[in-house]
Formats: sequence, structure tokens, C-alpha cells
Amino acid sequence: MHTLVVGAGLAGLAVAVRLRREGWDDFLVLERGHGTGGTWRDNTYPGAACDVPSHLYSYSFALNPHWSRSFSPQPEIQDYIEKVARRHRVRDHQIFDCEVQSARWDSEEQHWNIGTSQGDFIATVLVGAFGALCEPALPDIPGIDAFAGEVLHSARWNHDIDLAGKRVAVVGTGASAIQIVPAIAPQVAELRVYQRTAPWIMPRLDRRYSTAERLACAYVPFYQRTLRAGIYWAHEAQAVALANKPALLRPVELLARAKLRREVRDPEVRRRLRPDYGLGCKRILLSNTYYPTFNLDHVRLVTDGIAEIREKSIVTKDGTEHATDVIVFATGFHVTDSPMYERISGEGGRSLGEVFATVGRRCYKGTAIAGFPNMFLLVGPNTGLGHNSMIFMIEAQVNYLLGALTSMRRQKLRRIEVRASAQEAFYQDLQKKLARSVWNTGGCVSWYLDRHGANTTMWPGFSYAFRRITRTFDIEAYTISR
Ligand code: NAP
Repeated sequence: MHTLVVGAGLAGLAVAVRLRREGWDDFLVLERGHGTGGTWRDNTYPGAACDVPSHLYSYSFALNPHWSRSFSPQPEIQDYIEKVARRHRVRDHQIFDCEVQSARWDSEEQHWNIGTSQGDFIATVLVGAFGALCEPALPDIPGIDAFAGEVLHSARWNHDIDLAGKRVAVVGTGASAIQIVPAIAPQVAELRVYQRTAPWIMPRLDRRYSTAERLACAYVPFYQRTLRAGIYWAHEAQAVALANKPALLRPVELLARAKLRREVRDPEVRRRLRPDYGLGCKRILLSNTYYPTFNLDHVRLVTDGIAEIREKSIVTKDGTEHATDVIVFATGFHVTDSPMYERISGEGGRSLGEVFATVGRRCYKGTAIAGFPNMFLLVGPNTGLGHNSMIFMIEAQVNYLLGALTSMRRQKLRRIEVRASAQEAFYQDLQKKLARSVWNTGGCVSWYLDRHGANTTMWPGFSYAFRRITRTFDIEAYTISR
């Protein structure tokens, strides 16, 4: 087979649709889960919804006039993804419940040997669309395995667990937690939210779309495209502050502080909910319901830090023992240390994990890595955005990938590999730009920075700049052989 794609999330689906449209049928998509959708299939926790407006958080080739709200809930997004997969007839190319266990570059045969839970495959090109937010991370807390109650991770919700009347702990206060906390608070007997770092929270301008708006999207020429473009540019403008001029975010901090003052009654709780680092350093969260939840009598904010977990309780560093029936870990994902990195071995048998551990997550255009011929990552290092839709970045990368595949076909190339010099120049330029961004200077600890302290997660600026550099495949940055 020519191209093997690992992952059927938003990125893997975008590749499949594009390959089909270009008449390129010699490809397969392997997916470890039961179906398409990736992170949107997996994150079914109560309150799960997107914090990027739906008209923007959708493929440019599959606009959806039927979004019910400005910020769609998870079931609607998952339904959209499945419809796109059906409409573009990619099902025949997808193999579900098929976990990639290894992918090894064979330098003699010049192809990839892929070992999976459903047997072995050989492919000329490997496309890693396994995503960044897919491998749940549990914190390293002493005694975590001793807990006898129910344990949930935000990305692996078990809907059979009834939270009604239970004493529930939510660990973490990131994008997932701030959606879960207000959604489960009405059911539970007691809710304790364990906060390590207070997030910045801004209003969520969410509303239902009227029938007239939806009809206009469906039938008025250019209405939806214009709406989408307006949302895109309004978001794009934020890149100036986040990536270049964090000082511009100071007035926004005042707005966020005023919101906190308005929404939380107890001054002591308010004080502990106030972030002590620059807005934007971590993802800016959107919610109208998170802060008011702390006004409920049965909800408590715990900020003393978790010392250990026991059979029926969580013990904080001040020695208090909090009786607990269910623990919800909303503690994020293995982003810079994806387990997939250990499974992929390139030239000389070196794994991606080994290479990244030695030199950091150096990557060319978030897509190609020296030492890994005929391999392309989607949503790879330094493609993350704090201000716009990741689908925009995915489509740009898919375009670049198609350029590479077309060059290989036209020039009958068997092997292409990005030059180490091109990768290094690209990486150094990125790091220089990121040095002035709020992610590097905002005074917080975040998963945007890897263990070497380098920001190998975020794209430093406008998303259209990324689209510009991925518009055409620059074969001169690669070594090639026939
Ligand atoms: P996250 O942003 O990584 O947040 C993890 C939370 O767990 C943080 O508050 C972290 O605290 C806390 N934590 C980790 N270890 C802890 C420990 N030992 N004790 C106490 N707290 C601990 O994860 P996430 O909320 O799942 O979000 C991940 C990403 O998914 C987001 O950045 C976003 O890109 C995406 N997401 C998007 C949406 C959406 O609406 N589109 C919704 C959910 C998620 P620290 O801050 O101190 O590290």
C-alpha cells in the first residue's frame, strides 16, 4: 500500500477525504477506537463542548448550516464528524479497533513495516494523525492505586457510574474541568475541586441560533462563508497579543478579574480563584457557569495540594482528610510525551521518543522530522493555537502532505527526508519568535513547554502564516532518492 494513516480523528479524516477527492485510493486509515472522531469520540464527559465557535470549528470543505448553537456540544460535533465521513465515503479505507503497536522504517526496502493488533502492514508513506490530546495523563500522586471508589478520567467517562448523592472530587481546573464541574454539581452530594493553578476565565458568548439564521446559512449565498470569515479574523487578531505583545492582554485581565468579582460571592474563595500569572500563558478558558458553582453550599475549592490518596479519601498537604466516593481526574494528556513516540522507529532504528528526548521535539513545519523518511505528522510539534481553530491548521498540513505525495508520484521518488539543516533553521526561527510570546513569558508552568523548557507545542503567531508556509511543498528542503 502507498499511504498508511494512523488515527481517524479530525486530522485522519481530513487526510482521507482529501486523498479520496484527489483520486488517490491506495491508502488505509488505522484507528484504535471503535469509530471515527478521535478526541470528540472519546470526550463524552458531562458538559463537553467546544470553545471555538462551530462555524469556524468545522472543515472548510464541509460547512454545516445546521449548528444549533454558537459553541456546539460534543454530541453535535461527533455527529458532524460522522456525517462528513459518510458523505465522503471514506469508510472503506478505515480499519477500526486496530491499534498500531510499532512502525519501523526499513532502510533497505525503503518502506514502513507497521505492526498492529490486527496484523502487519507495509506502506511507502506513514502519516501520523494520532493527535496530541488523546492519551489521558493521570497525576503521580502517592496511593492513587489504593483508592477503592470509582475513578474517572475526563477523556474516558464511564456513564454507568451514577454520581447522584456521591462525594465527588474533581482534580484539575483546565478546559475539561471547568465544563465538568458546573455540569455535575447539581447531582452530587458534595463536590470538591482540587486546584493547583487557577485558570483565567472569560465570558462564553454562547447562544442558540435562530431558525432564520440557520436557513440563511443554508440558502443565502455567501452568508455562512462571510460569517465564518468574520469569526476567523476576529480570532486571528488575538495572535498579535498572545504571540508578540503580551502587554496588550493586561486590560483583558481586568475584565476577567471583574467577572470573578461579579460571579463569586465569598472573598476568600475569590482570592484563591485569582490567577497569579499572565492571562494567555495557559489556555484562556470560557465559561459563564464555572465560577457561580462555587457559590453553592455543597461545592468547595481545595487549594492545599494533594499529599496522598487513601482507600476512601484524599489527604491534602495541610493534613486534612477529605472523604471521597468518586475521583474525576481532569488532568489532561500526554502531549509532549505521547506513547506513540516510542512505537515509531526511523533511520538506524532510533525511536521518535529517543530522538525527541535527546534533541527536543524538533520538527519541520510541524510535519516532517529528520531521520524519519517518508513520514508526516499532523498536529505535530509547534502547531498548537491559543486563539483559533485547529481544523484550519490541520487543513493546511493536509495540503502540504498532498504536495509531498504528488511530488513523490510525479518524480517517482521512493524516499524523501527533510534535511537536518532545514529543520534546525526552522526550529531556531520558531524558538526566537516564541521567546516573546505570553506562553514563554507569562510566568506559568504549562504543558506547552517540554522537559527542556522549550516551547515545542504552540505556533508563534497568525494561523494564516502557517497556511502560507504549507501552501506548496518545498522539495528543496528534503533529500530525495528514486
Ligand atoms: P489541561 O489543560 O492539561 O488541564 C489539566 C489540569 O489538571 C490543570 O488544571 C492541571 O493543573 C491539573 N493537574 C494536573 N496534575 C495535577 C495534580 N497532580 N494535582 C492537581 N491538579 C493537577 O487538560 P484538559 O483540561 O483536559 O485540557 C487539555 C486541552 O484539551 C486544552 O488545552 C484544550 O486544548 C483541549 N480542550 C478543549 C476543549 C474545548 O472546549 N475545545 C475542552 C476541553 C479540552 P496545572 O494547571 O497546575 O498544571
